[in-house]
Amino acid sequence: MLKNKAAVVTGSTSGIGLGIARALAREGADIMLNGLGDADEIERIRAGIAAEFGVKVTFSPANLMEPAAVKALIADAEVAFGAVDILVNNAGIQHVAPIDEFPDDKWEAIIRLNLMAAFHAIKAALPGMKRKGWGRIINTASAHSLVASPYKSAYVAAKHGIAGLTKTVALEVAQQKITCNAISPGYVWTPLVEKQIPDTMKARNMTAEEVKREVLLAAQPTKEFVTIEEVAAMAVFLCSNAAASITGANMSMDGGWTAA
Ligand code: NAD
Repeated sequence: MLKNKAAVVTGSTSGIGLGIARALAREGADIMLNGLGDADEIERIRAGIAAEFGVKVTFSPANLMEPAAVKALIADAEVAFGAVDILVNNAGIQHVAPIDEFPDDKWEAIIRLNLMAAFHAIKAALPGMKRKGWGRIINTASAHSLVASPYKSAYVAAKHGIAGLTKTVALEVAQQKITCNAISPGYVWTPLVEKQIPDTMKARNMTAEEVKREVLLAAQPTKEFVTIEEVAAMAVFLCSNAAASITGANMSMDGGWTAA
């Protein structure tokens, strides 16, 4: 379905981004991976996807905290593939702390990566999409783009911001066969979630099991984690021609969390 298309997936060395990259590759898209991590492990992932799906897969270690690095990532992908047809803004980090103790540097880092990097990537990728008259922009938002939880001020602010950015971009390019949508998962079991358990234990004075049951899955009526594969399948659908009229949408995949 996505043969002759090229996709940049930010934050795709792990978790949801890696799942989306694999799913797009399965559909025939060439992939620019991006993210941090151990170089040997990333090379193993890159070569594995290329071999499994018979597509071109490259990797950029761009640190998306820096606007110049975001622009370079898009430029590198355009050189490697001739175009960026699909942009998935997925890289994200979390920090959990009461607002009166929230470290300034963590606030800034979360806004820079979870919100500003998407702006810079969209700005850099849109001219090429407009030239081709086709494009798909997908922003990994979160249930926290719609509702808040205590102790996640920066993350909730960034995710509400990305929901607004998604709608604005969708309106601006609505007549150019470019769609821009957000996917808003509830809790997905990835390293990002695993890593916030110790801080949440501290902030709420709970055990790890209590955090999983009473904080994470408490919000999700299904009492199940959302899976990476489910989120990846939604991204593939949003790239299909059947999804041409879906734009400016915020697709909740949260086991009913935001229905409550
Ligand atoms: P993850 O920690 O598994 O993956 C994050 C990715 O971002 C990794 O590839 C990492 O290397 C990359 N990254 C981190 N800092 C970076 C930087 N400075 N520059 C470039 N890349 C960087 O996390 P995940 O759970 O897969 O999260 C992916 C996205 O999904 C995030 O935007 C997150 O907010 C969102 N999300 C996650 C959940 C969840 O429950 N896991 C729920 C809703 C939304």
